[in-house]
Amino acid sequence: MKLSRRLLIFVGIFSSIASLGQLEENHIFKENYYLFPIKPGIRNTLAGTMGELRSSHFHTGLDIRTEGKIGLPVHAAAPGYISRVAVSTSGYGNAVYILHPNGHTTVYAHLDRFHGALAQYVREEQYRRKTFELNLYFRKDQFKVERGDTIAFGGNSGSSGGPHLHFDLRDENQNPLNPLKYGFTEILDNTPPVARKIAIKTMDKDARVNGQFGRYEFELKRIGNNYIIDQPIEVKGKVGIELYGYDILDNARFRCGITTITMTAADREVFRQEINTFSFSEQRNILKHMNYPDLHDTGEKYHKLYVDDGNELRFYKTDNNKGKLTLEGDGLTPVKIAMTDSYNNISYVDINLKSATVNSDKAIAYGNSHDTKIDLIDNTLVIKAPANAESLPAIYIPDRQELQQSYIINNKTGVFLWDMRQGLPHSVDINGENRLLHYKEMVSPQHSFKYYNDKMDIYFPDGALFDTLYLQASYDYIDSDKTEQFSIGDVQVPLKKYISVTLKPQKSYKDPEKYSVYALDARGNAHYKGGKWEYSRITFRTRDFGKFTILEDTIPPKIVPVRVDKNELRFKISDERSGINEIKCTVDGAWVLMNYDYKTQLIWSEKLDFTEPFSGEVKLTVTDNQGNKNIYSSLL
Ligand SMILES: [Zn+2]
Repeated sequence: MKLSRRLLIFVGIFSSIASLGQLEENHIFKENYYLFPIKPGIRNTLAGTMGELRSSHFHTGLDIRTEGKIGLPVHAAAPGYISRVAVSTSGYGNAVYILHPNGHTTVYAHLDRFHGALAQYVREEQYRRKTFELNLYFRKDQFKVERGDTIAFGGNSGSSGGPHLHFDLRDENQNPLNPLKYGFTEILDNTPPVARKIAIKTMDKDARVNGQFGRYEFELKRIGNNYIIDQPIEVKGKVGIELYGYDILDNARFRCGITTITMTAADREVFRQEINTFSFSEQRNILKHMNYPDLHDTGEKYHKLYVDDGNELRFYKTDNNKGKLTLEGDGLTPVKIAMTDSYNNISYVDINLKSATVNSDKAIAYGNSHDTKIDLIDNTLVIKAPANAESLPAIYIPDRQELQQSYIINNKTGVFLWDMRQGLPHSVDINGENRLLHYKEMVSPQHSFKYYNDKMDIYFPDGALFDTLYLQASYDYIDSDKTEQFSIGDVQVPLKKYISVTLKPQKSYKDPEKYSVYALDARGNAHYKGGKWEYSRITFRTRDFGKFTILEDTIPPKIVPVRVDKNELRFKISDERSGINEIKCTVDGAWVLMNYDYKTQLIWSEKLDFTEPFSGEVKLTVTDNQGNKNIYSSLL
């Protein structure tokens, strides 16, 4: 009995997929099926495209410009029904999702407000649930739309840096598609992609770029729409090439995404990426697609033209070496990179690589500094120290071992390389000075892992790491401000998932309920992380390595009335340390909807019944993340 019922369910699912497939054939490839959602038929420009590199994700759709204005009508791109509406202070802000008969979904985000009956429905739900933030799903028959219907008005809500419409086109699995492949004449692009620099990176301890280990950037020279480097670059061993480039559309200054990048070496294609789709669950792999340490230091977004260890994205096609190059023979190897945008404009980067058989002493960039510098690049520890034949550096792993100099830069700086897989060093002796390295464990990305010491426990769930991690952990007590600092991992190493950290403070906190964990950035600014106390230990989650501290917050949020009358309640709110957590407003005891824009720090009322004036006691309570409350009240 049970079995046959299950069978029926399966049959049901398969037949519905089949009918979606049929519908798809009927609809999606029709020319101009989708209407441009902002001022259709009128030429426009974009501030962002699908597949564009953002700091922690690929952009999923188009950022359509709205003349810098809030309030332009937003039109349904095709018939269907509104399947979802979301209201949030962050992310997409106010967003509408329309499901079309072909199985595609279009998404309209950062809206100022919804239109007509939908706006009324959302407001009633907010009042019914007494909440500003909402996520509503609709049935087929609730909000049907025709192509061109006004569904909302453009805005700047959520995490948006200026008025624009974010527009996604998604397939039946909610994976983003490139809307520019669907024939919008509103957008012009005859401008090919732009390349700025390339970088060449050594892929193992024995590889060199112009005689050196590491990653080296090269400026490109522009000739027409193409780019070259005059001199050949000498490489030895296995190297990877990275490209700093982006697309420019006609009449716009914004840096957009390049759809297709290919690389050939000696006329053989070794790497290809075509960003036509991806899934939201894979998004974080962008931290392995880009050069994360360089992004962290300079903000420049390089495409690696090789598939790095741990990168699970599926839009690459490569040779057996995953795009990494090992030169054969003595001569020059021409490397050609082709960049193609959504409108098939192409530009090329041409460089020549020269095979080096011996290490040669050539200095690029790494300076005149005589200071000792220790870096970890993938599996190799790089120690740069003043060249001094009388005392070679030694490494403790834990036995003392003298390091052999790999090469010299400018007769001044000796470079010593250590393969971390041969043992975790705890310290290095350089010119009689001992430096602690704080490497605690080699953590495999294959399974979950727990690290314990007397100052902190760190739990890595399965899949939290992209690649093998050489975990550093250290503790400092800062005398000047009497704070504790817990350093966990390397800020240049990305995490795929959240890890859980339990701090074991050495000093006692009188009223722990007023203390939380904060991340410290490079400038020393503290960012609230939260955390839960248990037996004088505090546990929090993080998806970034770095420095953490425990700080007190006893200061309640600030409330400044901007307008308080019978028609509208408007306030400016802010909180110094832990940040705003909850906003509650009542008039004469009845809950009032307050819209919240964190960027302008403004909250403002929206009545359920516009004709009814506010009257009675206005009471606004704003609570921060540490539980500190401020209450404003007045009489109307
Ligand atoms: Zn966007």
